[in-house]
Formats: sequence, C-alpha cells, structure tokens
Amino acid sequence: MHNHITEAYEQMGISKEVLMLCQEIEESLKERFAEMDKVTECNQLKVLSAMQKHQISEAHLGPTTGYGYNDMGREALEKVYAEIFGTEAALVRAQITCGTHALAIALSSNLRPGDELISPVGKPYNTMEEIIGIRPSKGSLAEYGVTYKQVELLEDGTFDYEGIKNAISDKTKMMTIQRSKGYLTRPTFSVKQIGELISFIKNINPNIICMVDNCYGEFVELDEPSNVGADMVVGSLIKNPGGGLAPIGGYICGTKECVENAYYRLTAPGLGAEVGATLGVNKDFFQGLFNAPQVVNGALKGAIFAANLYERLGFECVPNATESRHDIIQAVTFHDPEKVIAFCEGIQYAAPIDSHVTPTPWPMPGYNCDVIMAAGAFISGASIELSADAPMHEPYTVYFQGGLSYHHAKFGIMKSLAQLEKKGLINIIL
Ligand SMILES: *Cc1c(COP(=O)(O)O)cnc(C)c1O
Repeated sequence: MHNHITEAYEQMGISKEVLMLCQEIEESLKERFAEMDKVTECNQLKVLSAMQKHQISEAHLGPTTGYGYNDMGREALEKVYAEIFGTEAALVRAQITCGTHALAIALSSNLRPGDELISPVGKPYNTMEEIIGIRPSKGSLAEYGVTYKQVELLEDGTFDYEGIKNAISDKTKMMTIQRSKGYLTRPTFSVKQIGELISFIKNINPNIICMVDNCYGEFVELDEPSNVGADMVVGSLIKNPGGGLAPIGGYICGTKECVENAYYRLTAPGLGAEVGATLGVNKDFFQGLFNAPQVVNGALKGAIFAANLYERLGFECVPNATESRHDIIQAVTFHDPEKVIAFCEGIQYAAPIDSHVTPTPWPMPGYNCDVIMAAGAFISGASIELSADAPMHEPYTVYFQGGLSYHHAKFGIMKSLAQLEKKGLINIIL
C-alpha cells in the first residue's frame, strides 16, 4: 500500500521529501481529526433528521418555471433550513445571487430611513462597505438615510463592550456581526463568543436586531449563531451549506418577521415568498445540504493540515496550528511575493478543472493592488472548492479555503509546497 501511495503522488509531481513531511504532519493530527469527526457526525444527523422530519420525497426534487407558484421543493427546503438553524423561518433561493446579495437583502429589508446600523466587530467584509455606503455607492443604505457606526475590536481581538454600549443609541435598529475573519487577520469568533455578544446587546435593548454574517462558518461547530440568540443568520450556497453542489444561491434564516421582510425585499411587496421558480436546482440544494457537513469536515481538515505544515516550515499561520476553528479559512503569511505566487500555482495545478492554467497577479475591482487567485472549480467562483487568493502587498498573506474532500484539500497543500520546492524557494529538511 505504502508503495502505491508513494508512486501515485510521485506521478502527480510530489517528491519523496514533500510526501514524507506531509505524512508526518498528518500522523500528528490523527487525534484532532477524530475529535472533528464527532462534530461532523452530529451535524450529519442534524441535517438528516431535518430532511426526514419534513418528509422530503422525490416530488420535492423537481423543477418549476415561470412564477414558480406552489414550488413544493422550495417550500420544503426552507422548512429544512429553518429546522437545521433553529429558526422560525428561512429564505433559501436561487434568486439570491451570492453571499453579498443575501446580506444586502437582510440589511435593506429590515432597516428603514432614520435607522442606525452598528458593526460591533470592526470593519466588515469588503463588499459590505458598498452595501452600507462606507464607500459611496449607488443604492447603498446611506443613500436611503440609514446611518452606520463601527466599534473596533480591542487590541487582543476581543469585543470592546464599553465601546459598544456607548455606541448604542435610540436610533440603533440593527447589529451586523461577522463571524468569519474573512480576508483579515483578526480571529474568527466562536458561536459561544457571538452568543455572549448578542446577550450583552439584548440586555441593553432587546429590540435591536442581531444579524450574523455566517459565511464560511456553517457546520464547523455543533451550534450556529441562531442557536445562541441571533435574529438572522445569512450566508452563501456556493460556500459551506451548498456542499459543493448548489450552483448558485443564498440563505437568510431567522425570526418570522425578519425573514418576511427579506422576502418582500427579494421579490416585491405583495408577492413575497410566493414566487421564485427553482428551474431545477432543488435536487442540488437538497443533496448539497445533505453533503455539507462532510464537505466542511474535509475543508477544515485541509486548513488544519496546512497550518501545521506551513508553521512547521517557519511561516506564520492564522489560525495557528493548534487553536480551535470557527470557519474554514486559513491564512499563511510569506512576506515574499514569489512564495505567494508559487503557493497559488500549486493550488491551481491541483485543481480538477483548469489545472493547466497558471494564475498571475492582476488588478481586480474593489482592490487597490494586484490580486492573485487560484481556483479550478466546478461551480465558478465557489470557494467551498479548493481555492486560494492573495492581495500582492506586504505582508504577502495567502488566504486558502475549501476542498470538496479532505484528500483533495491535502493534495492541494502538498502541491503548493511542491511548487515552492520546485522553484527553489524552500528547503525541506526532514
Ligand atoms: C464570502 C463572504 C461574503 C460575501 O459572499 P459572496 O458570495 O462572495 O458575495 C461576505 N462575508 C463573508 C465573511 C464572506 O466570507
């Protein structure tokens, strides 16, 4: 068996040195991986139980067209999502084009002119700046007279409770709480931490709506933020909950009132959730959700494997090799553009699609420097699939995430190291 593996990797361009180091790292993670499997086991049962409870049948997997009235599958899927996230209601739609769109709907549908929105966790995800109007933008909340405040995190990455308390006013209608660090190097918050933050806010004013940007966090832990008091959780189906199968879509799970507001905003006042043809995506939405705990497990193991490997080689990793995980993103800092490029090349060369393409740094809208992106995905831009990207400036940090299976995520990381080795940028000493 050992020879088969060595040979198989050799054929895929992995040297004996890289393989031996990676095997050693993997060996050291056995216990940790076994612990993670228990979380996945529970989440798999949670998803299965929700599907059984709502008696999903073959009839739910078919398509509707046109207005999409009485789409049984769509309605059942929303019940299943609400069940899994422990919420009164859910909006899960192919008409939600991405995570940013889902967040825009959740915010703009629940805020009115004169209301104030606060981010108690510092700067939100890049695309949120335009939704809110931090960067002036057509159609932003600012244009509609919604004001915004931001409370920075404390130096150690924890919440500034005093600052949050002082920021809250009579106008404060909603909090936007981002779970994942996204493409920053602050820590990602655990569900427990988010729960504490929400309790603190609700203690000051129970009417403040707490929305959590749950992107990249689904099924990483046993609980979701909606289990600890969030009024709304929002995310993308081409990340964790789509399980790599959903070809488009987003979700908003939450209180009946918040979700109702969201569906009138997504479609039109008076129409709400009644319209929205599914055009054949129901089966992939259900099957992707069913697979999601397992897919997240693989992506998480890949991220942990990467942190342990690259930390061992002397590079700074966020999260580090041993800390607990609350999302699937892994950052590795190289302080060297050549290493960043080689890493991304390796990820690309490991892809099932477009593995023959070489990624290069390029100017991107919304960024003030060149960005390199490696992705060879079945679903365009799906970051639950193996992908990496890096803005080309100091400290030259690569953000890596996804992988539809652990073995593929692991291979991608091995290939990134192989590429660093091939270009003479790294010396592997066993
Ligand atoms: C990905 C992401 C988004 C936006 O999702 P898109 O699907 O890329 O529009 C928002 N917030 C966080 C934390 C994310 O990771």
